[in-house]
Amino acid sequence: MSSEPSPCCHVVAVPYPGRGHVNPMMNLCRLLSSTANVLVTFVVTEEWLGFILGSEPPPPPGIRLASIPNVIPSEVGRAGNFSGFLEAVYTKMEEPFERLLDRLEPPASAIVADTYLPWAAEVGNRRGVPVHSLFTMSATYFSALYSLERQLAAADGDVAAYDVGKADEPLAKYIQGHAPLKLADFRSVLAAGKPLELALQALSTVRKADSVLFTSFYELEARVFDALRSNIPVPVYPVGPSIPYMLLDEKRTVVKPSGSAAPDYVEWLDSQPDGSVLYVSLGSFLSVSGAQMDEIAMGLSLSGTRFLWVARSESSRLRETVGDAGLIVPWCDQLRVLGHASVGGFLTHCGWNSTLEGVFSGLPMLTFPIFWDQPIDSRLIVDEWKIGLNLRGGVGTEEGGGVVVVGREEIAGVVKRVMDLEGDESKAMRRRAAELRSAARRAVEAGGSSSTNLECFIRDFMGNVA
Ligand code: UDP
Repeated sequence: MSSEPSPCCHVVAVPYPGRGHVNPMMNLCRLLSSTANVLVTFVVTEEWLGFILGSEPPPPPGIRLASIPNVIPSEVGRAGNFSGFLEAVYTKMEEPFERLLDRLEPPASAIVADTYLPWAAEVGNRRGVPVHSLFTMSATYFSALYSLERQLAAADGDVAAYDVGKADEPLAKYIQGHAPLKLADFRSVLAAGKPLELALQALSTVRKADSVLFTSFYELEARVFDALRSNIPVPVYPVGPSIPYMLLDEKRTVVKPSGSAAPDYVEWLDSQPDGSVLYVSLGSFLSVSGAQMDEIAMGLSLSGTRFLWVARSESSRLRETVGDAGLIVPWCDQLRVLGHASVGGFLTHCGWNSTLEGVFSGLPMLTFPIFWDQPIDSRLIVDEWKIGLNLRGGVGTEEGGGVVVVGREEIAGVVKRVMDLEGDESKAMRRRAAELRSAARRAVEAGGSSSTNLECFIRDFMGNVA
């Protein structure tokens, strides 16, 4: 169902330039354009315009694409220089975005911007346009970072107060209300220097926004959402799990993922027994060392479990190592794979989108967090929801460095525990994963918490622009 453009309601959406941000922003825009009579202009750099036009399904007629020049380093190079990339995003996009905003017809009635674009609130304030912030990571991470920002502001930015040497200390000792988190989970954030400074700047500007939306859903992080609602001076709307809108039909009922032609890996999955395949992906841009990749390959082969592994640039080398023990592809339609009957487990780097997609698919997970918010998501998966096991001894927060942090024997052992369909430990994880899967689906279906939150957001938002 597409909507008629309405001059009085024109949302300008601007995502952070990364796949884990562009996809959920597009999903939100699909929801907005199909649920309400809203025209959306989706603003990305030229490079991202190419990626979006080449992806499925194409944006519906209610969403028009607009681009600003490629003012930031290429998507491909950003993993190598996270700090430089983030700095460029903070300083170089504002001016071309504001120029574009001035030219748009009809004029923007609201901006929906990724939280990691702190300048968007300034632009909105200057132009008198309301700004809504979309946070595409966990609410737990947001809340911890938000509290940290408040505390650091009070302590003149003294990060040393958080003694990262005491890795096993509960984070709750420093930041109230984060029961399962350990200081170690925050180590790569606290040690990040410039990126931490920039992340805190982003969180501080949320107070200037008109509301903050989350790709999570209320039931998944209920305590954190309750706390956020009393701590943040703007409305909080959890509207996830953020999944491609094609998975909901017109009645907002979840439907099975489908695709026009089945790629080779789907045919391969079709030929495997139910629940027997482990899907392995370490995300779209961070990576671990070549030596660690080899160790993962050996561990997977040793486990005797069949696997489908997305390993971008290294796929041909790794294919030689694993032989026919599993299938290695450079890219796949992840949600479709996770929903396939033969897939029985997910080895993930714990990016928030992947975490939500794993929850939505009801799969037990093996966690291999690399950096930033990923150790926090891993802690939620393993210790809060109890639907997975950690592969990095609980502390692995190295920045994809050149070392092996987990050996093949250990990897093989954990893979066997999670994929043992008859084992009590695996059965218990699967039972809880199935409960969360139902909760995730209920949340997005008509009458569910996220569906209701989206309606409230639209009502409040329309009230403000009318
Ligand atoms: N993804 C995909 N195919 C792949 C690998 C990743 O479709 O082969 C998608 C995945 O479904 C998720 C996104 O890319 O939606 C990755 O986002 P996430 O937050 O998990 O991790 P990031 O790559 O941003 O670290």
